[in-house]
Formats: sequence, C-alpha cells, structure tokens
Amino acid sequence: KTPLLEVENMKKYFPVRAGVFKRVVNQVQAVDDISFKVNYGETLGLVGESGCGKSTTGLSILRLINPTAGRIMIEGVDSTPWYMNGREAKKYIKETYENKFEQMLLEFKTEDEVIKNLEKEIDKKMAKIYFEHGYSGLKKELLTDLKEKRKFFRKDAQIIFQDPYSSLNPRMRIKNIIGEGIKTHNIAKGKEVNDIVADLLEKVGLSSEYLYRYPHQFSGGQRQRVGIARALALNPKMIVSDEAVSALDVSVQSQVINLMDDLRDQFNLTYIFIAHDLAVVKHISDRIAVMYLGKIVEITGKKKLFENPLHPYTVSLMSAIPVPDPENKSKRIILQGDVPSPLNPPTGCRFHTRCPIAKEICSKEEPPLKELEDGHHVACHFAGDFKG
Ligand code: SF4
Ligand code: MG
Repeated sequence: KTPLLEVENMKKYFPVRAGVFKRVVNQVQAVDDISFKVNYGETLGLVGESGCGKSTTGLSILRLINPTAGRIMIEGVDSTPWYMNGREAKKYIKETYENKFEQMLLEFKTEDEVIKNLEKEIDKKMAKIYFEHGYSGLKKELLTDLKEKRKFFRKDAQIIFQDPYSSLNPRMRIKNIIGEGIKTHNIAKGKEVNDIVADLLEKVGLSSEYLYRYPHQFSGGQRQRVGIARALALNPKMIVSDEAVSALDVSVQSQVINLMDDLRDQFNLTYIFIAHDLAVVKHISDRIAVMYLGKIVEITGKKKLFENPLHPYTVSLMSAIPVPDPENKSKRIILQGDVPSPLNPPTGCRFHTRCPIAKEICSKEEPPLKELEDGHHVACHFAGDFKG
C-alpha cells in the first residue's frame, strides 16, 4: 500500500546574508538530504539533540516552511505543486500536461485512443475537461485542483507545538481556540461548533465545562491537551507533534503520551513524534529515526533499535536513558565536544568529530544510509562496532 508520507531527498538550507547588499554568504544546512516513509496508522519517532533538524523536518513536511530541495509525497502525490504561486503553477502545468497532450495528439490517430491514454496517464476527470473545454479550460481546472489539494492538506495534516504557553492565544476562549478551524473549514456552524468542541474536550480528558475558559486558567499539561483537541478538531490524518511533551513534568508527560496513543487508534491517526529524548519516543513509536546535524543516521523499528542500535550516536543516546534496575550499571557515554555548527558541518561523516570509534575514512567519505538488515538503515562505515 502507498505510504501516507514519503520524504525523498529533502533539504532545507537557510541562507545567511551579510553586508550592505545582503548577499548570501553561507547556508545553514538544517536538513540535508533525508528520505523516509511513514505508513498509515504508524508513529514515527524523530529524535536527536536540539539543532539536528527535527523541527525543520516537521515544518517542511507540513509546508509551514518551504524545503530547498526534494519531494514530499502525500498519499503517493507530490505536494510541491500545491504550494506553488500562480506563475510557478502555470509553468508546472504547462510542462506536465500541455507538452504531454501535444505529444499524445501526434502519437494517436483517434480521439478514443487519446482519451484512453489520458485517463491512464492523468485522470478521467481531467481528460474529459480537456476535450470539452480545451487546454485553457483544463489549465483553469488544474489550478483550482492544486488549491483544493492545498486546502485539504492544511486540514489533513496538523501540528502540535512544543510550547503550550505560546501556541495558544491568551485572549481567546478555549471554545474559539479549538473551534476556529472548524468554522474556517466549514465543518460546522453556530451552536454545533460548541457541541463538537465540548465533545473534543472530553476526548482529550478535559471537562466540557471548560469551553469558556482562557488558556491561563490551565496547567501546562491541560494546555497541551487543548493543543491536541485543536489539532483533532479538523479530523486530520496526520499529526506532527513537535516536542509536544518536552516542557512537561515527567509524570504529566506520560499521561499526555498515553492520551495521544489512545487517540491515534480512536481517530486513525498517523504521527510524527519529535523529541530530543529517546525515552520519550520509546512508548509511542513504531519506528524511530535518529537525526544528527541535519542527517538521518539510523532508522528502524523501535524494538530493533533498542535491542541492537548500530550507529555510535544512537548507542550514546541510548546510554542516556536512565535504567530503573540499580544492578544494571551500564555506563552513560559522554560524547566529546559540542554539536558542530550546521553552517560548516564536518566533512565525511558529520559525527566524526565526536565519534568514539572514528577512523581516517570517516572524515573523508560520507557514509550513505544503507539497509543493513531488513528495514534497519544505518549511516556508518563501522555500523555495529561501537557497543558503548
Ligand atoms: Fe563514527 Fe565513522 Fe561511523 Fe561516523 S562513520 S559514526 S565517524 S565510525
Ligand atoms: Mg525543535
């Protein structure tokens, strides 16, 4: 089955400008050529130290920022054209359709043949419009279609932010914070909106009587529940949780994670669950991707990752998880130095300046992300050699 999301060779570079003419003098390589898939109903945990590109990845997928390169496929369809401006979209349509049509018209003798082929190559609806209204009619339809897809995606993919204190407007009542999207997307009107909001409040473990309250009347954990209810209000397919529980106390953290886990089943959700801590993503994730300095260094199923981490960086992250058993005194690995700047990332393997087992080749050749075992991808020349 086609995955809900496929990220292909995505990059996000932020230009650094300087001087009177604000010339681009350098680039922050926040995300550098990452690829991964997320299947329906799955939770992908995304972990790594701050600044490794996790949030940039989440924001790029939702197109809250524009990736510099790569493709983001949503249900098998490239989402890039949905975000093009008018001029870009027209150019894209011309390149994708017009030339193809002209070629087909030359290639096939009868209109029937052309229609059949168009249906195969594009789709039935567009083929019909083309024959009824000509190319200009089709162009108009395609432009509308791109806008529609963008609108749907805005509803289908939601985000829950790190900071429940700043992501909720302090002057808005809860009923409006959660109900806003329901109104803009014409899901319901008037009193019906309040009913939906009240129901959502209960689903996230809050009282429906909180409708008229303001954010400051809630605790951190409760606010994050409001954030979850707001995301759920549009009945999305996918939710990106960007450090949603990181600011909360450990006990509240696990309550919110458990809630999100239940809601995933109840609402058929797919999650990308971002955190800097492996312990946080452990419970909820089906698969986990470990990021370091803009790269995915290891990605695999949760069980595999915890039983057999193959990248030295993953091994070090793993050692930071506190173990409840006092007999098991596995040593915490303290990495040398700080995370280097993504402005001038190290050559070769970006981790080589801190890796406990780095060899000469590591600073020279970048290790590709390779599938070493079934579904277990690692980017390291000496995968599995470092056990801590
Ligand atoms: Fe360490 Fe080399 Fe592997 Fe990078 S490629 S993680 S530096 S051993
Ligand atoms: Mg972040």
